[in-house]
Amino acid sequence: MTELSLLTWALVVAALVLGILAGHFGWGKRWPVSLKQLHPDYLTGLDYLVTEQPDRALDMFLKLMDANADTIETHFALGSLYRRRGEVERAIRIHQNLLARATLAPEHREQALLALAQDYLRAGLLDRAEGLFQQVSEVPRLRASALDALRLVYERQHDWQQALGAFRHLQHIKAAPPLKVAAHYLCELAALAMERGDAMGARQLLREARAQSSPLPRAALLRAQIAQTEAQPQLAVRLLRQALTEAPELLQEELPHLLELVGPQARDLVLVELVAQAESRDIGELKRLVFAAIAAGLVDAPPLRASIERVFSQDATLKAVWRADPVQDAHTVHEIGALLANAEKYRCIECGFSGRNFYWHCPACHAWASFEAYAIVKLR
Ligand SMILES: [Zn+2]
Repeated sequence: MTELSLLTWALVVAALVLGILAGHFGWGKRWPVSLKQLHPDYLTGLDYLVTEQPDRALDMFLKLMDANADTIETHFALGSLYRRRGEVERAIRIHQNLLARATLAPEHREQALLALAQDYLRAGLLDRAEGLFQQVSEVPRLRASALDALRLVYERQHDWQQALGAFRHLQHIKAAPPLKVAAHYLCELAALAMERGDAMGARQLLREARAQSSPLPRAALLRAQIAQTEAQPQLAVRLLRQALTEAPELLQEELPHLLELVGPQARDLVLVELVAQAESRDIGELKRLVFAAIAAGLVDAPPLRASIERVFSQDATLKAVWRADPVQDAHTVHEIGALLANAEKYRCIECGFSGRNFYWHCPACHAWASFEAYAIVKLR
């Protein structure tokens, strides 16, 4: 057993013991009591827990729960712990067992329904989770938790309209997440409208998105796509430049697209402007541009030579491979370009998930706009 899981179980053991004490004696009535006064089966259950026999431990606790109505909170704690550890089936058993009790107080029944819905969400049983969260959202005390979870269910189902509806309900009770979340729902809806060929509808949705949260580089990117399909390349370039200024982490993804839009004659002019813009900010941004350019096969573009040299000769890690020898250094930069082609380029700053593709919605932790350009961070 790792140190962490030992600690976690120690906390549950503490919770169980406190729960039992509270249950048997009431807080402060006959305190303290010795462990000898506890039901011996509880100690057996604890023994199963610490010897890593969780199913036998669970059977024991479920059996005892029927005999003792006062340890409900402890079982909620145990169920929640199982869920967090990813042992969702055990959490479901605990909460279903609670709900099967005829004598369960209404507030405990509602709490058990919410917990069971969270188990279903964690298990990916979205339809069941949705039904239960809807039911629990009628309970004023639990409304905010249930609606927020319902919003997550709709996100997983890619039902952006319903997710937005849940967001609005949460706003109404002053429990909404940051506005950028609603802006991303609107961007998702705009992308769907674009797929249907409804450019006017998409533009309206993007206006609403920008009204929620600004700057919103994703909206500029989508508007650039609309402009491109409507044969307005200059507008597309302007919007794409705007998106890259607002979100430089998109450079790796969008630089080839931008250069394709401006065409070969204007390529160097645009690169000069991008270099000037990055220089005016900081070395980190210049590094991002240099790596995006290297990954895009622009190692030999004249406007980038000085920037490549500056980044490689000044960076704490890169200067180890920089020889101030034009032939050798050009070779090094080409090699790094080849490495970048297969590198994991992005990482979620919320959960650490990394991969070669950029996502607005992290596939692992479901955070919005949480990706950073990772290869650069790694080489820094
Ligand atoms: Zn994440």
